Amino acid sequence: MANIQSIADFKAGKKRKLTILQVYVYKRLDESSYIIADLSDHAKLSVVTKPEFGKAIALGTFIKLVNPSLENGTIIPGHMPLQAGPIQYKKLEEEDLGNLPKEKLRTFDEIGKLAVKSNVPEVVSKVTFLSPKKPSPYSGQFRTAGVKDCKGQRHAIQLFGSHSDSVEMGKVYKFENLTVGNFKGPMDNWNRLGTSGRTSITEASNEIANDFSEIEDGDGKFEGIVLGHEKPYLYHSCPKCGKKCEEKDAFCGQAACRSELTETVHDFNVTLHIQECSKEEKIQKVFCFRSQLEITLESHSKEELTTKLENLNYKVCQVQYRKSHQSQDESLKAIKIKFNS
Ligand SMILES: [Zn+2]
Repeated sequence: MANIQSIADFKAGKKRKLTILQVYVYKRLDESSYIIADLSDHAKLSVVTKPEFGKAIALGTFIKLVNPSLENGTIIPGHMPLQAGPIQYKKLEEEDLGNLPKEKLRTFDEIGKLAVKSNVPEVVSKVTFLSPKKPSPYSGQFRTAGVKDCKGQRHAIQLFGSHSDSVEMGKVYKFENLTVGNFKGPMDNWNRLGTSGRTSITEASNEIANDFSEIEDGDGKFEGIVLGHEKPYLYHSCPKCGKKCEEKDAFCGQAACRSELTETVHDFNVTLHIQECSKEEKIQKVFCFRSQLEITLESHSKEELTTKLENLNYKVCQVQYRKSHQSQDESLKAIKIKFNS
């Protein structure tokens, strides 16, 4: 290990016959520059003069730089970087990353390159999905907003406390001072963003919102014809928040609701099989809640439910959906179903 030099010593100009820096690739700044760190310090690494070296540099990995050079504080690799074993490295705070672009980050592509805990000064995006409110692990409540930027790229923002009431589906907002969180969705390759006390959320002007007029809610839509349904799941729900409860419960069990339950709703969910009215005539499985099908049940009976579901057969509908990330069988989750009358 005698040849391994620290970033701090290297930047200070301490000469060695052979310099090897073993570093962690902390962050990508753009096509050809990175922030690297070891335990002593961090530095900018640039491959602008040797773009092919970029292929050997992966974010979040450890690399060895053999005989690099230094120009205006930026480290330039002398040879193709090598993979290296893990080392301890300095955890960087926002102020250490002061040489990062501080201007507005326009797209989620750029935001996806930021390290955990980074501040996102401003991003404008359209809310294309809103989860129900859940009790927050910290305090109060939170919900997740699925959002898209003006290029249609998806991201997700955890809205904590009063921020959970600040957005509506389908509207465009300017989010200021979001933070890159630790949490990744099951199928996502980016960390979710989150609100904090410094966050402000304001509705975008009509002029800005116009840039989003082509951006659709959810993951897609199709027109189809209902062929049938799978076995529905019948349950009781709270009339106030719509969450599952037991018929005997005196109060709703949801921390964010706690309504007194004088009566419950006869509720259900069901997977419909809907054939697309396109050339492929593909049959889609679409998971739906009762409220999306506009069915009201008078009783808690399977017979009534089955009759009402069979009334949907052969009806033509417009389905707006999200792709389900939990199931392996490519089933879809309905956002909205509109039946042609
Ligand atoms: Zn409730």
